[in-house]
Amino acid sequence: MSIDLKSLTLSELEGVVEQFGQPRYTAKYIFNFVQAKWVSEIGEITPLSKQFRAKLGDEGYYISSVRLVEKLEDRDGTVKYVFELGDGGRIESVLLFDKGRRTLCVSSQVGCGMGCVFCATGRLGLSRNLTAGEIIEQVIAARREGERVGNVVYMGMGEAFENYEAVLKSVRILNHPAGVGIGIRHITISTCGIVEGIERLGGEEIRPRLAISLNGPSDALRVKLMPAAARHPLSEVLRAVRGYQAKTRQRVSFEYVMIKGVNDSSLHGRMLVKVLRGVMCNVNLIEYNPHEGCGFAGSSKEAIGRFAEILKQAGIETTVRFRMGRGIKAACGQLGSGK
Ligand code: SF4
Repeated sequence: MSIDLKSLTLSELEGVVEQFGQPRYTAKYIFNFVQAKWVSEIGEITPLSKQFRAKLGDEGYYISSVRLVEKLEDRDGTVKYVFELGDGGRIESVLLFDKGRRTLCVSSQVGCGMGCVFCATGRLGLSRNLTAGEIIEQVIAARREGERVGNVVYMGMGEAFENYEAVLKSVRILNHPAGVGIGIRHITISTCGIVEGIERLGGEEIRPRLAISLNGPSDALRVKLMPAAARHPLSEVLRAVRGYQAKTRQRVSFEYVMIKGVNDSSLHGRMLVKVLRGVMCNVNLIEYNPHEGCGFAGSSKEAIGRFAEILKQAGIETTVRFRMGRGIKAACGQLGSGK
């Protein structure tokens, strides 16, 4: 049996220490040393007795870490980290700078099984889910590099709701004040529209922000771009979003990657307005970042401006996000496509 202490919540750690006949408060030492002091060996958790530290190791407890194998910096300030996992798998995280805020875009899976045709990660296929500890470690690794990460978005490699348990666990741990301490309103989970995930999140006691990649205003177009949309038609996604909002009263973000000649016409804009009628939301239009062999190009600034205007005129809060990290293949849809 091997159990990663970095993947355990404080209450789970309390259960562990009690099993070893230790007082509950010692769990807080473990949590704090692992999550906030970034120790990588159980032996470094010095408030615990030597015997207890040795026993934990003997029983298969350990602290996971990822190895930073590459750090690439773009001229626009974006940083891409390439990490190697314990089993040799590789994941990428991206640090974005926006209006003085540092946001880390983390991966939730090695590769992705959703197969979105415009996305480099989708072409890799899915290797495996990340553990909660491996997700958290991406944030800790960026902090080790001296970055004051204040926001975390689950928009890197992988579909977060296909790894629901580990993702939610990592959110709880990252949010805890005795650990990394990221405010819950500074954490966003992004999904390509997995209906069960949206419904489940609505029932959680913890409320990170929710973002949904829409990328098309009709089922036909969405299925063409995102094969997984065949299992999650727009009407179902919107029904789940309405249910989520009825429970949480929270605004939802819709992400829309602007692809030249594919989903960026005025007609698409007007269709999107209809689809989103009555939903408390904002829309992020993202200029598409092509990668080798994808067969797509990004929309022109004019087309994006026109599209944004249609949404704004309909009263939908709309933000345009132009390409960041393009020079190092760290932009949206480019992760896993190499240097
Ligand atoms: S866009 Fe997201 S969900 Fe789609 S293949 Fe890429 S990583 Fe997976």
